Amino acid sequence: MANTQAVVVGGGICGMVAALLLKQRFTNVVLIEQADTVGGLFCSVKDSSGAAYDMGSHIPNATGVAELDEILFADADTSSWHKIARLCSGNYFGGSWDLNSPFPDASKLPQDMYQQGCGELINHTDLPESNLLYDYCANSLGVVFTESIVVPILRKLYGQDAPLKSLTMAAGLFGFTRILALPADVTATLKQLPAFDAKLGYQREADFQQRKAQDNLSEVTYYYPTTGEGIGYWVTQLQKRVERAGVEIITSERVANIAHHDKKVTSLVLANSERVLDCDFLFWSAPPFIALAAMGLTPARGQVTLRTALIFHLNFDRPLLDKKSHYLWVWDPSSAIFRLTLYPNLTGQSNHNHLSAEILCSPDEVDSFTQPEVIDELVSMGIVDPQAKCVSGQTQVINNTFPVPTTEFQAVNQQNYETLSNCVDNVVVSGRFSGKCWRQAEVLIEAYESIMQATDAR
Ligand SMILES: Cc1cc2nc3c(=O)[nH]c(=O)nc-3n(C[C@H](O)[C@H](O)[C@H](O)COP(=O)(O)OP(=O)(O)OC[C@H]3O[C@@H](n4cnc5c(N)ncnc54)[C@H](O)[C@@H]3O)c2cc1C
Repeated sequence: MANTQAVVVGGGICGMVAALLLKQRFTNVVLIEQADTVGGLFCSVKDSSGAAYDMGSHIPNATGVAELDEILFADADTSSWHKIARLCSGNYFGGSWDLNSPFPDASKLPQDMYQQGCGELINHTDLPESNLLYDYCANSLGVVFTESIVVPILRKLYGQDAPLKSLTMAAGLFGFTRILALPADVTATLKQLPAFDAKLGYQREADFQQRKAQDNLSEVTYYYPTTGEGIGYWVTQLQKRVERAGVEIITSERVANIAHHDKKVTSLVLANSERVLDCDFLFWSAPPFIALAAMGLTPARGQVTLRTALIFHLNFDRPLLDKKSHYLWVWDPSSAIFRLTLYPNLTGQSNHNHLSAEILCSPDEVDSFTQPEVIDELVSMGIVDPQAKCVSGQTQVINNTFPVPTTEFQAVNQQNYETLSNCVDNVVVSGRFSGKCWRQAEVLIEAYESIMQATDAR
């Protein structure tokens, strides 16, 4: 075959997997990462006692695409991995835990509000078509449940001043996809109708299992390393595989300039070394506006707000009180925390009693949250033993994580795609920065499909 070269920009999980897929289709593949290590958000930190933490709940799952899963979990049958057939999650809402469901239970609202809300919910029998989150929820759950359950969650995730009415359905609401509201029997019957299936969660495990059997759905397998290195172990294994495949990895580097001719990117110039790379195919998993600027095109910018993730990693001298859940949602507006990751339950074995508590905020709010306050909340929520002492930990601030998914964000993204695709046709923009999706499995499936489509067309 002719000597061909693909360049991958961004060495997160998406870029690394793309590099491996492209190595089977191009003679040379070069991966450019601006940080000094690859892995992006899938990396782990250790505290002074050796307890490892991830940047929030990062529990990878099989994608169902054989070629991808072979790359991702090649050594998953070894003792280095805890294979999780059923991910256990619960939620804190209305001042108490429900450890059997990730969905908030509307019956914990004041009785009159709950009854009024149920009346509305039952009357909405069609699936709403709106792309606007508030409108969709108001026409599905009803205004009472939207205002009393959804709006506080939106404010917690996207800020007290989030433009509620212009948020789109694009990014979804993390684990909040349904509510519990009606008795178990009624729910199981109503869920046979699409509009109710979309808004109500099953109340009983048996109903859920019966539905899975009826739809012939298999359980998604999740994986977590048992090696004590956190999810960073996964990235280390992938990096070795990328290197073994012969991909050249260049870290601490950026692209300064992208040359293009006749609708094709032809070469790239690196910022630090000034090295010129020939390029037959460009896979871009960094922010798209950087590619446009490097091509001499004007990117659309608009009013795009990115949330900061503030993560309190904590290790205690006594076991955590929840010994079952892998991760937990905190939907109750009384706490700024939105999610907890319980590592001893994830690894299946641990010398530490450690967890991560995630908060989303704006950069200037970071200092308003303190470790002692977070620990007090965890004690009052019954996750940490009141007698337990925090023996080690770390606090991480990660800027530019999730975009506030407004109509303007969507329009800016769309405009940038159009500018790019009108100019060149041998570039794929993918990964979480593309704004198309953000979850690990969705990001990787989207990248896989884009690569297949683009390389088949060559
Ligand atoms: C707080 C938090 C919690 C999350 N929880 C979950 C979860 O529970 N489940 C789930 O499935 N997903 C979760 N995610 C999403 C998950 O992190 C993403 O799906 C995944 O990281 C996507 O990988 P990526 O390679 O697209 O992006 P990233 O991991 O962000 O990697 C992008 C890479 O590009 C590099 N880069 C950026 N700009 C340039 C440039 N100009 N030149 C070169 N390199 C550049 C970056 O340094 C980085 O290494 C979470 C994300 C966050 C922030």
